[in-house]
Amino acid sequence: MIRASIQEIVNMAEGELLKGDPALVIHGVSTDSRKQMTGCLFVPLIGERHDAHEFLSQAVDNGAVAALWQKNRPLPEQSVGKLAFIGVDDTLAALQKIAKAYRRTLRTKVVGVTGSNGKTSTKDMIAQVLSERFKVQKTQGNLNNHIGLPLMVLTLEPDTDVAVLEMGMSGRGEIALLADIAAPEIGVITNIGEAHIEFLGSREGIARAKFELIEALSPDGLALLHGDEPLLRALADRIPCLTQWFGFEENNDYRAVDIRSLGLEGTSFRVEGEGLEYRLPVPGVHQVGNALAAVAVGRHLGMSVGEIASGLSKTALSAMRMEVRARPAGGYIVNDAYNASPTSMKAALKMLSDTPGTDFRVAAIGDMLELGDLAAEMHYEVGRKAGHLRIDLLVTLGQHAADIARGAEDAGFAKDRIFMAETKQQAIEYIQHCIADKEFPVILVKASRGMKMEEIAAGLLA
Ligand code: ATP
Ligand code: MG
Repeated sequence: MIRASIQEIVNMAEGELLKGDPALVIHGVSTDSRKQMTGCLFVPLIGERHDAHEFLSQAVDNGAVAALWQKNRPLPEQSVGKLAFIGVDDTLAALQKIAKAYRRTLRTKVVGVTGSNGKTSTKDMIAQVLSERFKVQKTQGNLNNHIGLPLMVLTLEPDTDVAVLEMGMSGRGEIALLADIAAPEIGVITNIGEAHIEFLGSREGIARAKFELIEALSPDGLALLHGDEPLLRALADRIPCLTQWFGFEENNDYRAVDIRSLGLEGTSFRVEGEGLEYRLPVPGVHQVGNALAAVAVGRHLGMSVGEIASGLSKTALSAMRMEVRARPAGGYIVNDAYNASPTSMKAALKMLSDTPGTDFRVAAIGDMLELGDLAAEMHYEVGRKAGHLRIDLLVTLGQHAADIARGAEDAGFAKDRIFMAETKQQAIEYIQHCIADKEFPVILVKASRGMKMEEIAAGLLA
């Protein structure tokens, strides 16, 4: 975590000391006045609904000792204890500047992870693998944007060897900003999907936006790219440093072979040219691609295959990502409700279909958001995919429930195995009714974050 004097913060933020002792030292930075922030610098951000300058006294109650202050906001009239105030033109830009400057003081190597799907999963796997050998920090939760990433950087400890940072985006220029702050030595692109196509126009546009991470690498850096994605191969001439490709097809430096699905227990695989078998305790063969990136980072940083295998075998994903829970009455709920895009939805359905040892497979799926004009078609395509898979009951929910159902029917899925639920409660009750006489049902629950499908998972577990 950052420890710096007020004077140093003034310099980093390119601000001016409005009030307080320049020698005072802050420990950490926080934007959330509701949280404990003993000794911290409070950064009041201005959002759509709130201007956090209004929450100063709450921040002070929670222990803040200094605050950034946007110069066009009046300073509070009563003096607030010994609080130091640093005036800046824009509190968000200042937060980013402080993070960028702090990063330059660290010897920590940074691994930046972006991609349409699998950023968090890949970040978790890389961090787990590297933890076998190094002191590692990783993005907490999903703090992957223009606010979360600088906050993450400011939590890095000077003795951390490697930081694995997730970088998200919804438009052009956003990854470039994050990479400028984090100055990564290694850049990973997990895949190119359709998420945010609404803002970027095409999959090419998405690939170019993700590639901002790679363009920001220095000549002695490493670009790790999904080699089965032609759009990434097409951008290879823009790579300023060593490149390694990973994937399932030929011509990858790290190619997964002998892949065996162990159902909900995960997957085992080998890397071509290596003898040892890796065991990944995370369901879904698509997760093997993410694991390959973790293998590659480990190898690049000098780890042995044995160390990497040991790390991978301990991988646990963040909450609501393929989270497997046993039902008291038998069988499992797979809660993958953290988010969804067409790519990840199809991958999750395939995982369900591949799961052995079950007598009843249920897919409870809802809307994928932010698909713009393509939404109806993409939900239809997901339905078609589901229709071709081994699934016994398809429950759909949301504005596009009918599009999914239509796709499934067109693929030959029997109509009486599709249920378009109007509410989550209805979905829960219908599923419960259908699995009542099943011994070992497996139920996948998934949609975009905004759909809050975890409520269905919780209902089914209750
Ligand atoms: P977000 O943009 O919400 O931060 P993310 O990129 O961090 O998402 P994860 O949270 O790791 O992605 O995974 C989201 C979903 O994508 C999960 O359903 C997961 O199973 C699926 N997924 C993970 N990796 C891949 C992949 N390589 N290809 C397709 N789907 C994937
Ligand atoms: Mg994520």
